[in-house]
Amino acid sequence: MLRRSHTCGELRDSSVGQTVTLNGWVHSYRGHGTGLVFVDLRDRFGLTQVVFDGEDSRKAILDAADKLRHEDVIAVKGKVRIRTGGENPKLITGKIEVVCEELEVLNKAETPPFLPDDNPQGGKLPNEELRLEYRYLDLRRPKMQHILGTRAKALKVTRDYFYDNGFLEIETPILYKSTPEGAREFLVPSRHQPGEWYALPQSPQLFKQILMVAGADRYLQICRCFRDEDPRADRQAEFTQIDLEMSFVRREHVVEMMEGFVRRLWKDMCGYDVPPIKRMPYREAMEDYGIDRPDTRYDLKIKDISEVVAKSDFGVFKDALAKGADRPRFNSQRGVVKAIRVPGGAEKLTRKITDGYTEFVKGFGAGGAAMVKVNASGAFETGIAKFLEPLKAELFAALGLQPGDTVFFLADTYSIATKAAGELRQKIARDMGIVPKPGAEGGPWNFLIVVDFPMFEKNKDTGKWIAMHHPFTAPRDDQAEAFVNASVDDDVTIESIVSAGYDIVLNGQEIAGGSVRIHDGAVQSKVFQLLGLTPQQAEEKFSFLLKALKFGAPPHAGIAFGFDRLIMNFVGTDNIRDVIAFPKTQTGADLMTKAPSPVTPQQLKDLHVASTWVAPKV
Ligand code: ASP
Repeated sequence: MLRRSHTCGELRDSSVGQTVTLNGWVHSYRGHGTGLVFVDLRDRFGLTQVVFDGEDSRKAILDAADKLRHEDVIAVKGKVRIRTGGENPKLITGKIEVVCEELEVLNKAETPPFLPDDNPQGGKLPNEELRLEYRYLDLRRPKMQHILGTRAKALKVTRDYFYDNGFLEIETPILYKSTPEGAREFLVPSRHQPGEWYALPQSPQLFKQILMVAGADRYLQICRCFRDEDPRADRQAEFTQIDLEMSFVRREHVVEMMEGFVRRLWKDMCGYDVPPIKRMPYREAMEDYGIDRPDTRYDLKIKDISEVVAKSDFGVFKDALAKGADRPRFNSQRGVVKAIRVPGGAEKLTRKITDGYTEFVKGFGAGGAAMVKVNASGAFETGIAKFLEPLKAELFAALGLQPGDTVFFLADTYSIATKAAGELRQKIARDMGIVPKPGAEGGPWNFLIVVDFPMFEKNKDTGKWIAMHHPFTAPRDDQAEAFVNASVDDDVTIESIVSAGYDIVLNGQEIAGGSVRIHDGAVQSKVFQLLGLTPQQAEEKFSFLLKALKFGAPPHAGIAFGFDRLIMNFVGTDNIRDVIAFPKTQTGADLMTKAPSPVTPQQLKDLHVASTWVAPKV
């Protein structure tokens, strides 16, 4: 085989006159049958134009070149010269071409179902299912090659940073134990132990904590996590995390180490200097933005106007404020009225747009979104104007109203009104066209570290407590006593306990989450009790953890970054499948290998498993 001397992205005008050999795929060809054939030869590194000129000694080569088709794999040997047809400034090799003196067809390709072209004719990529089925063709696209390269570089920067800071890379098992940690698990039957099952890890959480008990001190793993949840645009059932844990630290130490990582990563990946990252308490996030991962690239803050409208006799406000009136401020069940002032909304948010808002907020449990406009002469107009008239002065002062504003009101319990306002705020921002471009496209990178989350929240459907981060998260240091002393029936106190958790948020997206961990068995047992596990269940599921905590567990804390999401930011895509070499569809299918797929009855028998699935009759 003619082995390459250069890649297809390497030659410049300084190589003119040299004899070189290139290997690659036929990306495109022109001039078949004309006596002068041009081929753009492609490999991972770029494209080089190759010319088959049919000069006397090279007639046979021209004949072979005439038969070349898309995606054939070839080797060419020839001389580099300045492009006779003029420079192509779009290519890094655009100044030169190679005149082929020897051609070896390494492998013919069948006519591909689509060409690996980022800008195909008609401007649209083939549909994603076809691209996933022929993933190897799709991955040949220069953009996908760039993504694979970006991913690999980010892996290296990550390892370099954490190795420089004394982290040990340690692998943990994929065949793990089924534990109730939050998400639905993938199960694997055991052949050796009939009727017993492994689970694939949702994260290596307990292993990394136990590694701290084992003295590992600083742990890193770039690991796969498995959660059998319904996929969303930025989620996959199988995804990659940068998983970290540190011993003898408190919250601020971890957060500082991670801030350093974010700074290094953005500098090395895109030359961006991340400024010091603001810490934002969870409560501030919820109050101002209605969400624990606020997008602070635009303003549109939410305002609690419960006190201002307390005297109003507008029924919707009155009914809301009557809810849980004996509960403390910020309690999830206490009634509130929230307002969003939209400067310039009176003109931009047309009836057609705002008509949909009531339906939209109903999706988050709210009854509706009341609205009022401030006209050019500063009077309330439309919507609930007549109800608000008596409170005009107070509302103008509280919200800083100006002519041309539109104001939306959400009146309900704290949890519903806050959530609905937070979602509506984001929708309004999209409708107003004020959401900046993603950072990768030149928009701002806006980082936040959110702290002081509640430890627990109530599951809407079951009414049971669930851990807001996960059950191994410690209360914030100053809350530990209140937590240990709280009665499990004292809902108001339990809801008010603040955890030592933290999230890193980028442009309204959570990119990392972690916490200081519980290293005291009694505190851990109390969390399990609150979450509804009986002592026997806690023992059965977590005895290994509770036991390890008894043998000298150091104070420890950690975090995990969603690696795929980081890459999505660097390459500017909102589709997680773009940044994974072999992703799965929304229903967990691998369209290339056709997994999942049936297995033989014998395989099931070996595993002591019987399927209850009956295929529907067609
Ligand atoms: N294991 C957690 C998660 O996957 C992250 C952490 O607390 O370190 O979300």
